[in-house]
Amino acid sequence: MTKLMSGKNVVVMGVANDRSIAWGVAKSLHTAGANLIFTYRKERSYRKLCDLFSKFEIKPLHILRCDVSDDESIKNTFVEIKQIAGSIHGLVHSIAYAEKDDLQGEYFDTSRPGYLLAHSISSYSLIAVAREAQKIMTHGGSIVTQSYIGAERFVENYNVMGPAKAALEANVRYLADNLGKYNIRVNAVSSGPIRTLLAKGTAGMNGLLRTRAEKAPLRRNVDQNEVGDATLFLLSSLSRGITGEVLHVDAGYHIR
Ligand code: NDP
Repeated sequence: MTKLMSGKNVVVMGVANDRSIAWGVAKSLHTAGANLIFTYRKERSYRKLCDLFSKFEIKPLHILRCDVSDDESIKNTFVEIKQIAGSIHGLVHSIAYAEKDDLQGEYFDTSRPGYLLAHSISSYSLIAVAREAQKIMTHGGSIVTQSYIGAERFVENYNVMGPAKAALEANVRYLADNLGKYNIRVNAVSSGPIRTLLAKGTAGMNGLLRTRAEKAPLRRNVDQNEVGDATLFLLSSLSRGITGEVLHVDAGYHIR
C-alpha cells in the first residue's frame, strides 16, 4: 500500500537529540514513508543523529551542516540538497535560540544584542530558509515551523522568546501569502511545553509543566510524537487547503 508521504523529500532542521520536537516529526515522517534529509549545527547533534539512525533503522537521503545565523550556510545547504534530491516537497523548521540570561528575570533588562540574536535565529531564519527552499520546491510543497503560546500572551520567564515567536507567527502569514502562488503552504504548530534541551534553558520549566497539565482540558501535557503527527498532517496532502495557520497541539491549554 502506498504510504501518505511515499516519494516525498522532506528536509528536517533542528534535531539535537531524541527529545527534540524535530525528532518526533522525523519519526512520524519516516513511518509515513518520506525520504528524509537532515540538517544540524553542532557536531554533537550530528553524532546524536547518527546514533538515532542506527537505533531506529532510518536511512536518510542526506545529512548536512547548516547554521541558520549564516545566509551563505543556508544557501549552500539548499544548493547541495538540490544536487542530491533534485526537488523537495516539505521543510520542517524546528529551530530557536536565546541566551539563558534572556529567559529569566525582568523582561525590560533584555539587551539589544540578546533581542536581535533571539529574533535572528528563531524568527528571521524562517524567511531565509523559505527563500532557498522555494527554489527547489518545484512541484509545490509545505513548510512547517514550531511556535509556542508565548507568542500570543505573557508566559513567565519566556521573555525575549515571546516577541520572537510572535514575529515567527507573523512570518508564517506573510510567507503563506508570498509563496501561495508557487503552491507552497506555510504553517506553524504551537506546541505545549515539552522537556527538551532548549526548554532546559527556560527558568521554572518544572513548575510550568505541572500547572499546564493541571489546567489543560485534557489534564496532561503533550509529547514529541503528538507534535510529530500534527506536523506530518500539515506537511501532507491531508492539509492541502490549509496555509497561514497556527495549529495548537497543547492538550487544549490555549483556550484557558
Ligand atoms: P532542541 O534543543 O531539541 O532543538 C533546538 C534546535 O535548534 C537544535 O537542533 C539546535 O541545533 C537548533 N539550532 C539552534 N541554533 C541554531 C542555528 N544557529 N543554526 C541551526 N540550528 C540551530 O529543542 P526543541 O525541540 O524544544 O525546539 C525546537 C523548536 O520547538 C524551537 O523552535 C522551539 O522554540 C519550539 N518549541 C519548543 C517547545 C518546548 O517546550 N520544548 C514548545 C513549543 C515550541 P544545535 O543543537 O545543533 O545547535
